[in-house]
Amino acid sequence: MKEKDEIRKKLLRETSKCRACRFCVDVCPTYQALEGVETLTSFGRMQTLRYLLLGTLELDDAMIYALYSCLQCGRCEVVCKSKGQNLEIANIIHEGRTLLCPVE
Ligand code: SF4
Ligand code: SF4
Repeated sequence: MKEKDEIRKKLLRETSKCRACRFCVDVCPTYQALEGVETLTSFGRMQTLRYLLLGTLELDDAMIYALYSCLQCGRCEVVCKSKGQNLEIANIIHEGRTLLCPVE
């Protein structure tokens, strides 16, 4: 339980660092493949995760899909780093989905 609380705090801290610049959106392959659905991008997943952790959103199938459709390719991180924020987006999404909706 304590470990989960620590992960939750860390993820809240990390997702709060996103500046919502959206520079990472266009390079996300799921955004490209699904013709512009922002929830299926790095930025969208970071926001979804943040609001789930805060309790503003309730987990549903669409959010589980958003979190698990991340390919963990890291393309978003290259852009985020080049814009000076350097967030470990793929790992944040991975830890978030494992915490909130672990695969049985
Ligand atoms: S790691 Fe996930 S969120 Fe980032 S570009 Fe790849 S698919 Fe998109
Ligand atoms: S590039 Fe980084 S700071 Fe900008 S929206 Fe994407 S994750 Fe957030």
